[in-house]
Amino acid sequence: MPVETVKMKARGFICVNSHPEGCRRNVERQIDVVRGAGKRAGFKNVLVVGASTGYGLASRIAAAWGFGAKTLGVFFERPPEGGKPATAGFYNSVAFHDAARRGGLYAASINGDAFSDGVKKQAVEIIRRGMGTVDLVIYSLASPRRTHPKTGVVYNSALKPIGAPFTAHTIDLNAEKVVEVTIPPASDDEIAGTVAVMGGEDWRMWIHTLLDEKLLAPGARTVAYSYIGPSVTWPVYRDGTIGRAKQDLEAAAAAMREGLGQNAAWVAVNKAVVTQASAAIPVVPLYMSLLPRVMKAKGLEEGCIEQMARLFFEHIAPDRTPTLDDARRIRMDDREMRDDVQKEVLRDFPSITTENLLTSTDFPNFKREFQGLFGFNVDGVDYTQPVETDLALVNP
Ligand code: NAD
Repeated sequence: MPVETVKMKARGFICVNSHPEGCRRNVERQIDVVRGAGKRAGFKNVLVVGASTGYGLASRIAAAWGFGAKTLGVFFERPPEGGKPATAGFYNSVAFHDAARRGGLYAASINGDAFSDGVKKQAVEIIRRGMGTVDLVIYSLASPRRTHPKTGVVYNSALKPIGAPFTAHTIDLNAEKVVEVTIPPASDDEIAGTVAVMGGEDWRMWIHTLLDEKLLAPGARTVAYSYIGPSVTWPVYRDGTIGRAKQDLEAAAAAMREGLGQNAAWVAVNKAVVTQASAAIPVVPLYMSLLPRVMKAKGLEEGCIEQMARLFFEHIAPDRTPTLDDARRIRMDDREMRDDVQKEVLRDFPSITTENLLTSTDFPNFKREFQGLFGFNVDGVDYTQPVETDLALVNP
């Protein structure tokens, strides 16, 4: 049993290891936020695809501690192996299971490729054996690639503009410098690849699998997540390859509403938060070094868990009808996209340089939050203490 002190190891900006105790604290803090908001009736059996970090983990916590729901989480994480610690999402999930067990809540997880038929089959078996019909499916995958389960073709997603190159200021996270980047436009294959990975086909496959197996409860709801963001990122985000994939997700929601009912499937547009997925998007780290300061000053700032508590309690709970925009999306980014917030953030945007990055922006906080995703730099953790790294995920 490797009990050891775990020091942060980074390759440039990215942490290549994670701290189990820091991850545990992160999960417990999120549970406390939801618990503080009080428990309500509603969801009984919830499936979260992409449940180990970011918005998916926060959704799972909102379902379990907000509604007392049984949860099945699906994710793709590296377990501890040969003395090497696991990825943060694995430790987050171990902490989730532990807290659920202590709280008398059912929690099962599948660590495997959500795009595969095999994992969907495992999910069906677990739901049938331990849960009952599912009344909510959250789809929160962020993945760089997908092996298509029917053809075996491997698709890669790209973060590129469409039609013309895009030049913008961003932070070179490894060098901690503000640099100008030019991203060439995507090829047709790259556009199609991104839609295949991050679009709606797999979401529909999950829902159809549950329907075919008669494991979707009457009136069940399903939500997938999207982002729109500020105009400075539109060429590479909203109007780029990933934007095309998100349009496909919206088309999937519309198609599912046709089949399942108008109150069955939505895309929720969430606010920008620091996650492993969002830090990889050009321009976003610079934007995320400016946005939280403005939102905090206005009393509007929210992290993943505050967003998901609001989404679950105010919009998607079975006794609620969500407020939708013209495209029938739930807009959790309403506060981020307020005119006054965007104006202030974008006003400062062009003046940020390497020289004033640390003084004029919240980059140090962005960095701290990013390390926090891996369980480092988390308040209340004594990093000089040895910790057990060889933890296991145990299903009921
Ligand atoms: P994340 O990287 O924190 O989480 C991704 C999850 O997907 C993890 O649980 C990971 O294990 C899982 N995953 C990846 N590949 C998988 C596979 N093949 N099989 C099973 N699980 C797999 O991402 P996130 O930032 O929380 O993003 C989740 C969703 O929210 C995405 O659709 C993203 O576009 C959207 N979103 C994110 C932001 C943001 O700022 N982070 C804002 C709005 C919307």
